[in-house]
Amino acid sequence: MVIGTLADEVTRRAEAVGDRISGAFFEPVIRLGVTGLARAGKTVFITSLVANLMDRARMPQLVAQADGRIVAAYLQPQPDDTVPRFDYENHLAAITAAEPFWPESTRTVSELRLSLKVRSGGLLGGFGGPRTLHLDIVDYPGEWLLDLGLLEKSYAQWSADVLDWADRRAEARDFLAVAEAAAGQTTWEEPDARALADAYKAYLRAARDAGHADITPGRFLLPGEMEGSPALTFAPLRPEDAPARKGLWREMERRYEAYKDRVVKPFFRDHFARIDRQVVLVDALSAIHGGPPAVEELRRAMADILGAFRPGRNRFLSSLLMGKRVEKILFAATKADHLHHTQHGRLTAIMEALLRDAVDRASFAGADTAAMSIAALRATVEETVNHGGHPVDCVRGRLLTTGKQAALYPGELPEDPKRLLNPARSLAEGWLDADYNVMAFAPAPLRLKPGEGPPHIRLDRAAQFLIGDRL
Ligand code: GDP
Repeated sequence: MVIGTLADEVTRRAEAVGDRISGAFFEPVIRLGVTGLARAGKTVFITSLVANLMDRARMPQLVAQADGRIVAAYLQPQPDDTVPRFDYENHLAAITAAEPFWPESTRTVSELRLSLKVRSGGLLGGFGGPRTLHLDIVDYPGEWLLDLGLLEKSYAQWSADVLDWADRRAEARDFLAVAEAAAGQTTWEEPDARALADAYKAYLRAARDAGHADITPGRFLLPGEMEGSPALTFAPLRPEDAPARKGLWREMERRYEAYKDRVVKPFFRDHFARIDRQVVLVDALSAIHGGPPAVEELRRAMADILGAFRPGRNRFLSSLLMGKRVEKILFAATKADHLHHTQHGRLTAIMEALLRDAVDRASFAGADTAAMSIAALRATVEETVNHGGHPVDCVRGRLLTTGKQAALYPGELPEDPKRLLNPARSLAEGWLDADYNVMAFAPAPLRLKPGEGPPHIRLDRAAQFLIGDRL
């Protein structure tokens, strides 16, 4: 165990040096983590970001681009041979097809290396050739981050926490009945374990569909390559005073510990600990549409995610990081093309208030943090319609369900974020004075001129925050 930890540390030290420089030419590398809960928009974000960094006509807020210093951007083989490659070409083909469609969402960790040739700025910029910077983009499910909390919880503690929430939710009724029947089982067969785990997963799926964000273990709904393995076939059971040595409770406990050792720790060691900058994508509009409890869960999830980046938060993580810390974290509300631009400032103010709260809750300090509202791929156009003699600012797009054009008025976000955050905190049943709508739009057919990437909203500002200082 001790030897294992030491070996890990030695490897990390060597890697920490290797990560920042690449090959014999000492070319700097930035590892950019892209995360967010399922459907937050990670796949679309990476696809559009890469396309817009290669064809940069729509990136005026990226300062190095505005200064004409980016000479070239091109994809290269990634440095990690055992990590799946982000399927950029197929995802781009989906959004640029004659009849475009949304690409398949993130299901596991994947990586892509984009290299940028950049001329230095300033007086000495003209001397020497352009330098190369490698941007390694690492896409991973936000659900996996929340597993960090498991490392400090025993099986009994985790079960008690999870069941406490489950007791209050209608979606958990069937699972609780199966768990009740399994209590105190002194012998068991694999189908018993599977039935229990399947019932638990069905509950997690229903909880996620109802907008709940506290889905642990994170791999149960996004198993990656581990699907069906015993380390992913367990479930919480109520604490027992003297569980039988060969009983079901002890087996569940053993599998929970195996999950932490074999699944959670390797992810944090191999991927998370190597990240330099991070963007966390948040589907804030869907949460607002979901009502106050959904916004409250979003607020808690943001604090939990930020907590994962707090230095010294966790003994295991501190031993991996050895003082290295993420330098910048951007929380971006995605899909801002559901709003007329006159409301973007309000969405950003809500994100900023949520971020401030998350920083306070997680006692987070150190990294440079920011909040923004963006759309990685603009699927709508703006339109002002006349509604009973009043002009109403809408967006128009093709509906995903019917393929028909429709105008959406999503509701008016309050100027003061507290008007949303206070009812959320008190878990009010509904918004007092407003109603919010979202619609799923299909991506719009694109007619790109040479040099243009897909249309977006503020993707260039996001890129400037995340990597602009290194270009
Ligand atoms: P992931 O699970 O985080 O990888 O999420 P995806 O990137 O697959 O996005 C999930 C869904 O959100 C997509 O299928 C789209 O329906 C929607 N979406 C993502 N980005 C945008 C955007 O910029 N604009 C709009 N209108 N919808 C988006």
